[in-house]
Amino acid sequence: MNFRMLGMLGMVAGLVFMAVPVFAQPREKPRLILQITVDQLRGDLPKRHYHQFGEGGFRYLMEEGTVFLEANHGHANTETIVGHATLATGADPSVHGMIGNVWLDRTSGELTYNVEDARYPILSEGAGVDKKTEIDPTQRTARSNGRSPAAIRVSTFSDELTLSLGGKSKVFGVSVKDRGAISMAGHTGKAFWFSKKSAEFITSSFYYDQYPQWVSDWNRTEPAKKYEGKSWDLLRDRADYMHGDADDRPYETELPGFGRIFPHPFGKADDKYFTTLLTVSPAGDELTLDFAKALIENEDLGSDATPDYLSVSFSSTDYVGHIFGPSSLEAEDNILRLDRTLAELFRYVDAKVGLDKTLIVLSADHGGPEAPGYLSELGYEADYIDPKAFDKTSAIAELKARFGIGQELIQTYFHPYLYLNREEISAKGLDQSEVEDAVVHEISKFEGVTLAVSSSALASGRTPDTALTRSVLRNYDPRRSGDIYLVFDPNRFINDFDGLSVATTHGSPWRYDTYVPIIFAGFGTPARQVARPVETIDIAPTLSLLLGAKPPSGSTGAPLVEVIASQQ
Ligand SMILES: [Zn+2]
Repeated sequence: MNFRMLGMLGMVAGLVFMAVPVFAQPREKPRLILQITVDQLRGDLPKRHYHQFGEGGFRYLMEEGTVFLEANHGHANTETIVGHATLATGADPSVHGMIGNVWLDRTSGELTYNVEDARYPILSEGAGVDKKTEIDPTQRTARSNGRSPAAIRVSTFSDELTLSLGGKSKVFGVSVKDRGAISMAGHTGKAFWFSKKSAEFITSSFYYDQYPQWVSDWNRTEPAKKYEGKSWDLLRDRADYMHGDADDRPYETELPGFGRIFPHPFGKADDKYFTTLLTVSPAGDELTLDFAKALIENEDLGSDATPDYLSVSFSSTDYVGHIFGPSSLEAEDNILRLDRTLAELFRYVDAKVGLDKTLIVLSADHGGPEAPGYLSELGYEADYIDPKAFDKTSAIAELKARFGIGQELIQTYFHPYLYLNREEISAKGLDQSEVEDAVVHEISKFEGVTLAVSSSALASGRTPDTALTRSVLRNYDPRRSGDIYLVFDPNRFINDFDGLSVATTHGSPWRYDTYVPIIFAGFGTPARQVARPVETIDIAPTLSLLLGAKPPSGSTGAPLVEVIASQQ
């Protein structure tokens, strides 16, 4: 018997022992479940910067909570809505349906943004996405300013909490990003997100007919304006940073007026990029914190024995990661400031509700790659992929000639999916799966392509059972997925955001994109580190079990026994 087996036996014995009092003495439930998602917080980053953190933020979670050291997303397309919906539902994207930030609507032939819903316009006139200034290319695909969770096919933990308590719990989701708030609030909660256009937190008519008074009041104080004329500067002495001598790097994105080096000025409040710059800095998270505090106060969250739910999704880490890379001085300062933001949130929740009555869970929607330029500095060869190079190869032209397709064979390419021209394929009497296989065969030869998988191969089980294809299968929804899924080589990705070249882009099935933290804390959760590999689909069923709710309808994750056992 080896140590691993001994350890497993010990765990099993421990569980049997711990399981005894489960039904004998049900514990009081937490008054508040606080689910925190840090957009693009790769699993190693809190550990890497641990020695730089202050009191009460990450240190509180890491020293007093149950820390899962080896947590990953199991799906291939590690994007924001995909990860959030997975955290919320405990299901894979193949089940919850959010297979990408954007997919092609086969009926209209147009790209669809994940949470858009023309039936439910946002409540503020003119506060929708400004396509001229929006730097998030997925947001620009939305055809309407309406928003709702309707495209999420299954229930979230927050829904199950609502259902288990006859609608008496209060359920909210807050984020700078609409998709970060809407996904977590589920079908039964309320969501608020930041409008870069109007510098307010907004919502849609799916949730409210008019703003609650406190939201209007909060917006009226114009909290974003206090950053006017200010700059994002370093929190500490430059010498205290790992990347203190690496501020100016050619691979960082130079946003107009914001620059590549500290201090980064926000400029004037009436500048059209002012609010964008706030979100590409810790200010976006500070505004989110401020709004979340107002929400806790005004909605009386956690004030009685009926458990309430609040999801706060912090987006700055993602924007800063894209623009400067996760190993930049900017990202380093951002995580130190995020640590302060978390500490302030926990201090506030402790004063209002009590951390002993609040169950906190923190994770991330995805990780992120290093900037190829940064890797190259360290001797690791890496580069970006130019999608236009694909068009230049003769392979697709030859295929078109072979199949007699005169028009475009590839209707749309929105990474990671290629959408073939199905109408043309069927008009020519060709077999869809045969054409898919032929395209896969050609594309697999392209420089930088690790894997191309056709949807007909996934649907008919014609794929090899490898870790990569399993992750692609877990991302496959026959109604929304494209016809061919592309995986690029590690550390190679498209960095073109519709004309804006960014430092990094996540979205791959490689570990730097799937690896995220999972930490439970508060409500008597013991200090513990768990090295057993776990997945992000495990979070929602764990919360359901702890709260006495049924598992979300599509969830396939396993409850995290280390958290369950300690709560009985
Ligand atoms: Zn991102």
